[in-house]
Amino acid sequence: MRKIIRTANCPKCGSVKLKILSGNGKIDYFCSECKMNVKTISCEKFASISSKCKQCGNDVFKVKIQEKNGGELWNPFCCKCNGQASLICIDNQGNEFNINKREVIEILSSMNLFESKLLKLESSVYDFNKKVEKLKKKVELTYEYRFK
Ligand SMILES: [Zn+2]
Ligand SMILES: [Zn+2]
Repeated sequence: MRKIIRTANCPKCGSVKLKILSGNGKIDYFCSECKMNVKTISCEKFASISSKCKQCGNDVFKVKIQEKNGGELWNPFCCKCNGQASLICIDNQGNEFNINKREVIEILSSMNLFESKLLKLESSVYDFNKKVEKLKKKVELTYEYRFK
């Protein structure tokens, strides 16, 4: 399939220089010239990208938009050095936090989910085995009764 890549620009003034506002689970792109909100991208909970270039600290980006499976992939590149914005973790108050903490939270919540699923599975397997045992005995008894 053909890749369609275009550069994002402000619908109001046409500028391709965008700034980033990071938020919990979203990235807001706004025009660096006229401040218009160009696009809001939603992402994973607590995830966002930094409003500054990872390499040079510049806060103006050009965004390459790649169309993919009917959706759009927004890739910001630093206007000065072509560097990328780094992924960050951010809470509802807009505070950035360490990626490890987020990983821990996620791992813990998925572990709890997995554990409860596993417990359900275990008990249903146990029940199932008991039923099978009973059934086997029934069948054996029937056979013994009929064919002896
Ligand atoms: Zn603009
Ligand atoms: Zn840069």
